[in-house]
Order: sequence, then C-alpha cells, then structure tokens
Amino acid sequence: AFEGLTERLQKTMEKLRRKPKVTDADLRETMREIRLALLEADVNFTVVKNFVKTVQEQAVGAEVLKGLNPAQQIVKIVNEELTKMMGETAVPLNKSDHIPTVIMMVGLQGAGKTTTAGKLALRLKNEEKARPMFIAADIYRPAAITQLKQVADSIDVPVFDLGTDVDPVEIVRQGMEVAKEHHNDYVIIDTAGRLQIDEALMDELANIKELAHPDEILLVVDAMTGQNAVNTAEGFDEKLDITGVVLTKLDGDTRGGAAMSIRAVTGKPIKFVGEGEKMENLDVFYPDRMSSRILGMGDMLTLIEKAQKNFDEEQAAETMRKMQENNFDYNDFLDQMDQVSKMGPLEDLIKMMPGMANNPALKNINIDPKQFLHIKAIIQSMTSEERENPDLMNPSRRRRLAAGSGRPIVEVNRMIKQFDQMRKMMKQVTNGNLNGMENMMGG
Ligand code: GDP
Ligand code: MG
Repeated sequence: AFEGLTERLQKTMEKLRRKPKVTDADLRETMREIRLALLEADVNFTVVKNFVKTVQEQAVGAEVLKGLNPAQQIVKIVNEELTKMMGETAVPLNKSDHIPTVIMMVGLQGAGKTTTAGKLALRLKNEEKARPMFIAADIYRPAAITQLKQVADSIDVPVFDLGTDVDPVEIVRQGMEVAKEHHNDYVIIDTAGRLQIDEALMDELANIKELAHPDEILLVVDAMTGQNAVNTAEGFDEKLDITGVVLTKLDGDTRGGAAMSIRAVTGKPIKFVGEGEKMENLDVFYPDRMSSRILGMGDMLTLIEKAQKNFDEEQAAETMRKMQENNFDYNDFLDQMDQVSKMGPLEDLIKMMPGMANNPALKNINIDPKQFLHIKAIIQSMTSEERENPDLMNPSRRRRLAAGSGRPIVEVNRMIKQFDQMRKMMKQVTNGNLNGMENMMGG
C-alpha cells in the first residue's frame, strides 16, 4: 500500500528542496501537489481539504519560508499533521474489569471478520496467556461455521456453535453462558456480513449488541475498497456506535486512503491493521509509524520490534562472540538464516528501511524463499567437521556438496564465496575497522 502516494509526496518535497529560495508561490504549488497526491490516494475529499488548510496555516505560522530549510520543515509539519489525522497514538483494545471481555466483530461480507477474529485470539493468547472462546453467530452461510472452526483449530481456541438453524441472538446468549461457566477471559463473536449494509442485518447486530454488551465492537473493513471503506465505517458506526476499526488487506495493492480518512471521518480509532492472510499478520496501528511509512521515512520501529520478538537474545550474543573470535561457522550461518526467516518475507523487511519503500529497484522485488532453502540444503550436506571448519572447502568437497544437495556447482561456489566474504567483513567490523567495511561495500 501507499507506494504511489509516497512517490508523489517525495517528488514534491524533492522539488522544493532543490530550490535555492522558496517563495510564497512555491509554497502554494507544494500545497496543491500534496492535495492532488492525497486525492489520488483516495483520501476523503473533506479530509484532504482540512488537512491541506492546516498544513498551510502551520507553515505560515512557523514562518518556514524565512527558516534555513523550508522543505525539511514542511516535511516535519506534514508528518505531524498526518499523524494527528490518523489518531496521534495507538489505542489499545477495551478490556472489561470482570471476565469475560466481549469483542464483537462486525463488517461487510469478505472484509476479514473471521480471519481477524482468529488473529486477535492468537494475539491475546500470546500476549496475555488469555483463554478466548469464539461464538459462531454467522448462520447464513453454512461454510462460515466450518471456516471459523478451521481458524480456531489452527490456533487451538474453542468455538461455541448451534449450527445454522438457531437465531443468532439466542446462539450468543447461550454462548455467553458457556464462556462464563468455563471462565473464558475473552469472548469473540463472529457475526454475519452482507455485501452491502442492510437494515435486517443491522437490526440483528443491534440485538446481539444489546444482549452481549460488548466491551469492544470492532468494525473490520477492507482497505482495498477505498472510499467505500469510509462510507461503510460511517454506516456501521451510526447504527452500532463501534469502538474501533480493523483495516485489513493493507498488504495488497491499495492506495491507502482509507487508513488516512477513517479516523478523521468517524472519530473512531483504527486499532489494528491486517497485512496478510496468516494468523500472525495483525499489527497494532501506530499513526506516527504509518505516517513515516507514507512519507517514505521508513518504519524502523516496527522493524526493530519484529527483530526483538523473533531473535533469541542468547543466541544473538553467542553469534556476536563467535564473530569477534573469528569463529563464525556454517552452523552459526544456519541459525542466523532461521532467525531472519522467522521475521517474515525479506522483501517486506527491506521495505521498512528508510528510503527503501520507494526505491524503484525494489518496486517488484521478489526474493525467492527457495534460495534460502537451497543454501540450507547445501549446508546440510556438509559433514559436521566441514561446518565447523569453513576453510576445508576444497574442490572435491564442493562437488560432493553439489551432488548431495542437488544444486549446481556454481551455486555451491557462490554460496561459499559469499560466506567467506561475510566472515572477512565480520572480522573487520568487529575489530573496529569500519574503513574495511566501506571498502568491501564499494564505498
Ligand atoms: P469475513 O466474511 O468478513 O468473515 O471475511 P474472511 O475472514 O472470511 O476473509 C475474506 C478473505 O480475505 C479471506 O480469503 C481471507 O484470507 C482474506 N483476508 C482477511 N484479512 C486479510 C489481510 O489482512 N490480508 C490479505 N491479503 N487477505 C486477508
Ligand atoms: Mg466470516
């Protein structure tokens, strides 16, 4: 998401930066370009109008044109205002002071309610050691209950269901009783959706709400639907007074406008974003990080958090020690590859680095996960002696590795060469010889 917008905003700022002196007219032109860029990204018209007006006022108020670096100051103002527009700070899930906390998922058909219910339950299990229970209240599609059960099985969470012949309100009533008996600390109600907002469904949801007194009514909206996502949010909010929004499919090719408009239009916070189909792909929505991402400033915080979550600290310390002693071997290399692959697809990680999201060379980058597997296969064909002594790799051993892993000899040679270079670089870096690293990287 956001690539198009990021590119346009960066171009605008670049143009401004190149000017020896920024005039009033330049500022007006910049505002015009920001306005067009946001509209193009599908941000709601009124939201854009207010946004540009505020940025303009701030720029004039701060007398940026008299300052030393007007372009930089404007980026700063845009960043601050974008962050404000998306809600300033992350808003956590509401929690009841007595169990169970009740979360009701609502939204149009296909928005991602059932998937998100699963992601949320997994998150609660991991973070709070919670014991959630699902209630299957979508009785209109027989496959819906099966789907919820599949999701639930994959994360080991119980489902309460009464099939498709009982009224959803009654299902929820009985489900709540069961959750209380079993002392579940969270109840997540998976409700039905329609292709469009319709009165009958809204009445049903309102009845469920009245019965279950949810602490959290999470509206799930599909980011790919652009302006419609905002209209949907308004419609559901009017009828149900939602408490938060989950924006799904932000991993897709969306222009991102919904993320920027929903808070401003409804006043309701986006609490999470879905960035993939897997149960792990649910992230807390941080307006400030999203803003830096949109402006192409990278999302280093999320990257660092991902690393902290997935890296085994002891192992990292051990690797560091081995690097310093110049003992880094193929076993360490394998461990490192495992740790990195736990963080997610490499192309996603690279895009979070500053300046990378919009790097044209990365536009259609596709790092084949198979390459990882091939390197692993080659290392796994080594004897333990070879893994511990990287210098043993003579031609006949290399041929044996090629045969053993089923990879061509050139690939084996390339892997060994890269490994040797990496060791050399580690030695230089850990010896504090940074010039060495610069030389290696061609700097
Ligand atoms: P529901 O009808 O609202 O319950 O929607 P589902 O949970 O059944 O999701 C509809 C489709 O969207 C499924 O194929 C999901 O795998 C997919 N989906 C849900 N969330 C995401 C997401 O964040 N990213 C992507 N790429 N797909 C998603
Ligand atoms: Mg569903």
